[in-house]
Amino acid sequence: SADDGGMIPGRTGGATLSHLSAPVRETPEGYLAIDAATLRALEIERTVRGGTTDGSLVGVFSGAGGARTSMGKRLLREWLCRPLSNREEIEARHACVATLQGDVRSAESLNAALRNVQDVARIAGRLGLGRATPRDLVALGGSLSKLELIIESIDNAPAFGAHRESLESLRAMLTPMAAEIERVCLESPPAHLREGGVIRDGVDAELDEARGLRRDAGEWLAKYQQELIERHELPAIKVGFNRVFGYYIELSRAQSAKAPPEFTRKQTLKNAERYITPELKEFEEKVTTAEARAIERELALFRDLCAKAGRLAPAIAQFGRTVAELDCLGCFAQQANRRGWTRPTMVDEATLDIEQGRHPVLESLLHEQFVPNDIRLGTTESPASLALITGPNMAGKSTYIRQAALLVILAHAGSFVPATRAEIGVTDRVFSRVGADDALHAGQSTFMVEMTETANILHNATARSLIILDEIGRGTSTLDGLSLAWAIAESLAKFGKETRGPRTLFATHYHELTTLEEELPGRLTNLNVSVKEWGDEIVFLHRIVPGRADRSYGIHVAQLAGLPRAVVKRAEELLETLAVSHEGMPREISRQNSKKAVAPGASQPGLFETFKEHPALGTLRSLDLERMTPMEAFDALRALKKDAES
Ligand code: ADP
Ligand code: MG
Repeated sequence: SADDGGMIPGRTGGATLSHLSAPVRETPEGYLAIDAATLRALEIERTVRGGTTDGSLVGVFSGAGGARTSMGKRLLREWLCRPLSNREEIEARHACVATLQGDVRSAESLNAALRNVQDVARIAGRLGLGRATPRDLVALGGSLSKLELIIESIDNAPAFGAHRESLESLRAMLTPMAAEIERVCLESPPAHLREGGVIRDGVDAELDEARGLRRDAGEWLAKYQQELIERHELPAIKVGFNRVFGYYIELSRAQSAKAPPEFTRKQTLKNAERYITPELKEFEEKVTTAEARAIERELALFRDLCAKAGRLAPAIAQFGRTVAELDCLGCFAQQANRRGWTRPTMVDEATLDIEQGRHPVLESLLHEQFVPNDIRLGTTESPASLALITGPNMAGKSTYIRQAALLVILAHAGSFVPATRAEIGVTDRVFSRVGADDALHAGQSTFMVEMTETANILHNATARSLIILDEIGRGTSTLDGLSLAWAIAESLAKFGKETRGPRTLFATHYHELTTLEEELPGRLTNLNVSVKEWGDEIVFLHRIVPGRADRSYGIHVAQLAGLPRAVVKRAEELLETLAVSHEGMPREISRQNSKKAVAPGASQPGLFETFKEHPALGTLRSLDLERMTPMEAFDALRALKKDAES
């Protein structure tokens, strides 16, 4: 192609794939599975709204405290999207992070050593394809030369045993390669080899000789000029060089008449004539070929060196992988120090016990304003595996349940977590279903998608999974939605007779579901987000507390959002008329009764009676048809009709 300047000419055909290792089938074993919908909903790689890394979980680890190398950045993304699920492997990463967190000097020297490591994984790839540039080769040499420094920085830490072993096994191959590249190549070579300038002087005798000729050309020309002046007694003679016409002898127009016969005219200028002689011609050829020879020689030397480095591609790739891991671990340690994250304890039981947990993204935006919260599922004091979170809009339900999932993911990726204490049962999968109003992708917010995702959860969740359900059942009518949400919550909480259900955080605006706690004691627990009432106002405390929310506060939120005062007032009036004191009334609209305790099971029969019974029904029931005449019956019917129409 036209822009092949940088590649090694003639090697494209012979490109090898030696930089690629044999494909390995990726199995779900050993990894915490997070499906695509969950990665999106939890904003692991990018935000839902802006689609940017900034604001995502990956984004937490970029910037000043982020990974130093491009390889580290790529691996960090991989670690967060595909965390581990093997306890020993997870704990091995935590141990490394703890080491670096505790030993600031090691962390700093590692940091410094990594800072200058280039993307050797990609360079190894280009070497294999024969497309490496001089700058690639020099970057490779500089990167490999950091091997010793990296080993030194982790030398005293048992946690890094595997990394040190890996690097030590590469030392014998990579250190001499780094030294050779440094010996052969100039420190800052041009981007491509077209005009040479890559190989140092003193590396190759043939190259030195060819370069010498060109360098000595000036001296030769000065001598030749002096010779011509003396030989022909023409003191104004000049010998020069021009890129287009090459070497020439110049005489002024006045003197040109005296030009000796061996001068062959080459070019006529306004005030001068230029000539060439057989001697000068010969010199010119020698210099030009020397130049070409020098470039050719540089090319050959560069090619040899690339081939040599190319043969080390697997070792270079391993070096890159090890460096990337160290980079990620260093990044985790730095984050833990900067933000006061703690080392999670991994356990085999399917529990989740988090004290004063924070949302990793929001805590950096809100700082002290962020309210930490505890999360307890499947613990001794709080054995329920499913927590139902109710509370007004904007209270912090979605934040709370996402926070739980993000902390679990962070811990499994090997990172410390934003909490004062965290005990996390090893998890096999994280599922999430975010309700219709929260799914922001156009065309994705259909009820069908919601149910497809829920079906996937119900079919595939195990007792070791973690499930986040946010406002499920919103995409359909209230009764449909409520029934589905009810059945789904029940199924997840019941799960097996013996086994506990998957750890589930279920945020819902269906307050009716909170009665499930009485039906499924020890399996389902109610949490709500506390709010404080100030006269007509409410203040969101963002604090999660045990128990059910007693009202939905929807009207207050509407008022806060700036709905006209008259509309808010009218809504309050309507709420009063809709809120009928009826035993089976949904609490959501049963305002007067809101604070009353509900007898176990009492509310279930009336669950779907959304409307107040019409008084005509009472009248109808009381009619004694046996004792009525047809006329009386007809009058009663007329009265009923009138009543119904009023
Ligand atoms: P909900 O799902 O209950 O409607 P969200 O979780 O979406 O509420 O939270 C609404 C807003 O409240 C968030 O955008 C955030 O700014 C704030 N918020 C949520 N949780 C907290 C918290 N723990 N501390 C401080 N602010 C919070
Ligand atoms: Mg929400």
